[in-house]
Amino acid sequence: MSTIDGLPPLRDVIARHDLRARKQLGQNFLLDLNLTAKIARAAGDLSQSDVIEIGPGPGGLTRGLLAEGARHVLAIEKDARALPALAEIARACPGRLTVLNGDALEIDPLAHVTPPIRIVANLPYNVGTELLIRWLTSAIWPPFWQTLTLMFQKEVAQRITAQPGSKAYGRLAVLAQWRADARIVMTLPPEAFTPAPKVHSSVVHLTALPEPRYPADAKILSRVVAAGFNQRRKMLRASLKGVHPDIENLLEDVGIAPTARAEEIGLEQFCALARAVENAPRGS
Ligand code: SAM
Repeated sequence: MSTIDGLPPLRDVIARHDLRARKQLGQNFLLDLNLTAKIARAAGDLSQSDVIEIGPGPGGLTRGLLAEGARHVLAIEKDARALPALAEIARACPGRLTVLNGDALEIDPLAHVTPPIRIVANLPYNVGTELLIRWLTSAIWPPFWQTLTLMFQKEVAQRITAQPGSKAYGRLAVLAQWRADARIVMTLPPEAFTPAPKVHSSVVHLTALPEPRYPADAKILSRVVAAGFNQRRKMLRASLKGVHPDIENLLEDVGIAPTARAEEIGLEQFCALARAVENAPRGS
């Protein structure tokens, strides 16, 4: 019986299965198994968890996850050309790898995994942010996942972990930090990938909080933050006009200067404002 360690090098696998990278699928592969093991370790103790991996491609990170002891990996890959390479890994780890061929934006993984669940992925750039927003805006909280360990373009990783006052601070930071602890755990140069992308990449590790950091209605908070950052150069009394007719007074009530801009406002203040909007009657 073959083992993970007995599998051929990824370069050989890619050549044998003719897995030439396709740009439209965001394919930049990690071929260094030391690196993929390091990413797997950044996800925490996998031995008690099922792992969902989005976009395994030829399976470098998949191998890392299995070698680091993941109880079970559910890998969702859109590119059918990768399936034979992934089947070889599944044969080397009987019962520990399930592969679904399809679009991660359309597949519901929950029927195939058992909690606790960790999500680990070197995400295709084109769908990464959309998936993250879905995972963060789950209607049920705590969500089905315990941790997310995700590779993004460095700029996106900085937007997730940004603090007020910085250029990167915006909707993604508020959304992520309201319900999770988020930190960048690793940054990689373009040469770490084949083919090399134009930009650096970073791995962000997010741990779901048992409940949001400050009380607020998710939809109202989302509306306030979206309106504030959509016109981030404008003062809040102008950018939030559409959120509530009495916004200027509500801002003052929660101690925010109506002349402030969204990028100056911390998470706690945004939540206070969302609560004020929720509780204020829309009179006259
Ligand atoms: N995990 C591999 C690695 O680290 O080498 C590949 C990472 S590559 C950046 C992104 C992978 O996601 C590719 O294998 C691509 O085919 C796959 N992919 C792209 N769009 C997808 C989608 N909507 N659903 C599932 N997989 C997708």
